[in-house]
Amino acid sequence: MRIVTTKRELRETLGAARSAGRSIGFAPTMGALHDGHASLIELARAECDLVLVSIFVNPLQFGPAEDLARYPRNEEGDRERCRSLGVDLLFLPSVEEMLGEPGAIRIEVGPLGDRLCGASRPGHFNGVATIVANLFDLSGRCTAYFGEKDAQQLVVIRQLVDDLDIPVTVVGCPTIREPDGLAMSSRNVYLSPEERSAATSLPRAVFGARDAIAAGERSAEAVQALVRATIEAEPLAEIDYLAVVDPRTLEDLDVIGDDALIAVAVRFGDTRLIDNIAVSTVS
Ligand code: AMP
Repeated sequence: MRIVTTKRELRETLGAARSAGRSIGFAPTMGALHDGHASLIELARAECDLVLVSIFVNPLQFGPAEDLARYPRNEEGDRERCRSLGVDLLFLPSVEEMLGEPGAIRIEVGPLGDRLCGASRPGHFNGVATIVANLFDLSGRCTAYFGEKDAQQLVVIRQLVDDLDIPVTVVGCPTIREPDGLAMSSRNVYLSPEERSAATSLPRAVFGARDAIAAGERSAEAVQALVRATIEAEPLAEIDYLAVVDPRTLEDLDVIGDDALIAVAVRFGDTRLIDNIAVSTVS
C-alpha cells in the first residue's frame, strides 16, 4: 500500500494508473474506520483494479459548535485496516494541503443541502460538496463508493456529479449495522453505555416504519407518529428531525407512493446520530 500526502502525488499516481488502463475505485472517508467503511472498500476492491481511500476530517463540514476538535482519529489503526483490506493507495492530506490559502471558494449546494441534516447543520453540505468536488478533480475518472447510511450526502453527491459533469460513477452501498441494529458510525464511540442502549431506538423506529409501510400504511403522518413514539419512549433521546421524504428530491411526502426515505436524527447528550431506511412499495 502506498501512502501519499500531497495532491500532486495523488494526481500523478492515479494519472499513471489510468494511462496503464487500470480502473480506479475510490472510497472517501473521515477515518476512524469501522466495518461500514470496510464494506465500501471491499466493494471497490472487488470491482476495480486500483483502490484509493482518502482520510480527511473535513473542517468545512463541521459547524462552529460541532465536534471537529474531538472527532475520533485512529491513524495507525486506519493504516493497518486499509493494508489488510488490500487498499493500493491511501491519501492522507493535511488540512493545509487540502484547503490551501486562503481557501475561500465554496460550492453552494442549494435546497437539497438545506433540508433534513442541512436544516440543523447549516452549510454542512456546502462543505462536503466543496471537498468531494476537489477530491474528484484529483482522482479523475473513477468509481466512488458512498454509504446509504448518509442518504442525504449520497443524494447531494449524485447531484454534484450530474450538475458539474464530473466523470465519476457514484455507487451507493448498504448500511452496515451492529448486531442490535445500530448503524455503525465513527460517532458511536461517544455514547455512554446508557446512551448506547437508548440508541437502538433509531433502527427500531425506522424498521418499524418499514414494516408498517409493508403492511399497507401510506400516510406519512401516521408513519412519522410511529417513529416518534418509538424514539420518544427513550428518555435519553432528543429528536432533531424525523421525516418521510421523496428519496430523490428529499421533499416531504404526505402520501407514500412508490418509494420513500424514512430519515431520523436524534441527539443522545452531545452526540447526534442519524439513521434512515429506503422503502419501496412496488415489487
Ligand atoms: P465518514 O468517515 O463518516 O465520512 O464516512 C465515509 C463513508 O463511509 C461515507 O460514504 C459514509 O456514508 C460511509 N459509511 C459510514 N458509516 C457507514 C455504515 N454504517 N454503513 C455503510 N457505509 C457507511
